[in-house]
Amino acid sequence: MLRLPKFQYLKPSTVDEACSLLKKHTGKAKLIAGGTDLLPSMKQRLFTPEQVVDLRQVEGLRGIRNGGGKELSIGSLTTLSAVEESGVIQEKYSALAEAAGLVAAPQIRNMGTLGGNIALDTRCWYFNQSHFWRKPLEVCLQRGGEVCHAVKKSKQCHAYFAADTVPALVALNARIMSSAPIIIRQLISPNWQNSALAVFLLIGWLKGMSRLILSGAWRKKNR
Ligand SMILES: Cc1cc2nc3c(=O)[nH]c(=O)nc-3n(C[C@H](O)[C@H](O)[C@H](O)COP(=O)(O)OP(=O)(O)OC[C@H]3O[C@@H](n4cnc5c(N)ncnc54)[C@H](O)[C@@H]3O)c2cc1C
Ligand code: SF4
Repeated sequence: MLRLPKFQYLKPSTVDEACSLLKKHTGKAKLIAGGTDLLPSMKQRLFTPEQVVDLRQVEGLRGIRNGGGKELSIGSLTTLSAVEESGVIQEKYSALAEAAGLVAAPQIRNMGTLGGNIALDTRCWYFNQSHFWRKPLEVCLQRGGEVCHAVKKSKQCHAYFAADTVPALVALNARIMSSAPIIIRQLISPNWQNSALAVFLLIGWLKGMSRLILSGAWRKKNR
């Protein structure tokens, strides 16, 4: 049986509190939302954070609201099921509703959040395995080593980005509001060609996100 490593469990109730905990424990803490990806990864010892900051009690991070004007605002803690089943998303941003409905199985979609999906870590057959499985292999670039087992002699990691909702969010020109004081960046650029790359490159920088904004402008412009 795979067990969780020891960690300190922190439970902020506001975005500011969550941000200051992240700042205080920079590099050692991990955010947790639904936990569907983080907890199995911790059991596999892919990550062993000293602190786990639980976002689930943080006010205002759940739900789908009218963001004013032609915008729709989706809290990062909104579950994938809620995104999939939302009437307004089905009607105005059907690609996102469809993409959310394609993630894993209903149990994962009921727990897993949109924020957790966007911040999903990359995947690789040689990395996303148990500690026992990985032990005979030399540590790869992903963990600070010097080899890549997937592409021999490569000097860069080729793990792929697997989050199903992100291509839809990119196509819909979604913006992410990050609440982390350290990094406030627009994740998705208006240029579709570059934005797939931007998602991939910037994802590692994302320390904490609060809401996504979807604007009606994209659909209007392109109809
Ligand atoms: C069996 C199985 C099948 C799966 N299949 C799919 C699939 O088909 N498609 C797919 O896309 N995914 C899949 N997943 C991955 C995952 O379950 C989903 O992507 C889910 O949406 C993750 O959301 P979560 O809230 O559970 O994230 P968590 O596990 O809580 O967190 C995931 C990552 O996001 C970070 N994070 C969470 N919230 C925030 C935030 N607000 N700001 C910044 N960082 C944050 C965490 O620190 C962590 O690094 C699968 C997982 C399992 C276990
Ligand atoms: S460095 Fe290579 S082996 Fe390691 S996670 Fe990346 S692609 Fe996989």
